[in-house]
Amino acid sequence: MRSASSTPQARKHLGQHFLIDPNIVRKIVACAMLRPEEPVLEIGPGRGALTRPLCGAVRRVTAIEIDYRLATHLKETLADCPNLDIKTGDALEYPYHTLPQGTVVVANLPYYLSTPLLFKLLESRSRISRMVLMLQTEVANRLVAKPATPDYGVLSVLIQQLTDPAREFKVAANCFRPRPAVGSSVIKLAVRPQGRAHLSVADQDSFVETVRAAFSHRRKTVGNSLRDAGLPPKELSEALALAQLDSTRRAETLTVHEFGALADALVMLGAIQRPSLSISRT
Ligand code: SAM
Repeated sequence: MRSASSTPQARKHLGQHFLIDPNIVRKIVACAMLRPEEPVLEIGPGRGALTRPLCGAVRRVTAIEIDYRLATHLKETLADCPNLDIKTGDALEYPYHTLPQGTVVVANLPYYLSTPLLFKLLESRSRISRMVLMLQTEVANRLVAKPATPDYGVLSVLIQQLTDPAREFKVAANCFRPRPAVGSSVIKLAVRPQGRAHLSVADQDSFVETVRAAFSHRRKTVGNSLRDAGLPPKELSEALALAQLDSTRRAETLTVHEFGALADALVMLGAIQRPSLSISRT
């Protein structure tokens, strides 16, 4: 048994809120529905609350931890898990395109990093089958939001284009130490490599550009927002007609499929030049 003094203290700026409730740990691992042959990637293993049960569930676990103190500590305390590969480094820098096919991502994410990391992971979506993530409840709400609701926005549309998100359960602050100041929720994202709106890879970028421009002025109509974003009025009207969209609708009422149809039409009519934006910038 290791002495408590050898356990590194939490560093707030790294979003370190460690899970201390074994019941929540069990629920998260159960939610991932892991088969032994599935490779697992854990981001931010911390003190290993999830890592050990994950190592018990599958044959291969890779864990990326930025805090070298925790990585060193884990290598000692989980020395009896030969199927664990601990990488010390920044999860934002990890080469996700090298992940084995069918990887399942399981993580209690540092909240400061969750949105950029989510988009980074989705750039390598062909490698990932699903993700079970602990997120700030406010972000989780946005991921699952339906059109015409206050939480529906750019994040909802982009995530719902590439995944089927499902809210699993909320987690009380007293399940962590130290306790976070914000609410937490577990979300499961089943990845759709081709996207819900079945756009080509190149048009995926146009889709992002269209969605961002459409939401840039929440109170304006989609037609006015896109015109303000610099799209040529004639082609824009034609594209809206082609996508069977009334130009007086607001972005927050458009479904993912409608955004897909609009982006497709804008590309077809040459209203969007080959896009410069990538989804990681959202
Ligand atoms: N998985 C542990 C648990 O559930 O108790 C710890 C979760 S804690 C919310 C987030 C973890 O992510 C911490 O261990 C923190 O050091 C790590 N972390 C923070 N930023 C990171 C980054 N950029 N790359 C990799 N790990 C990071």
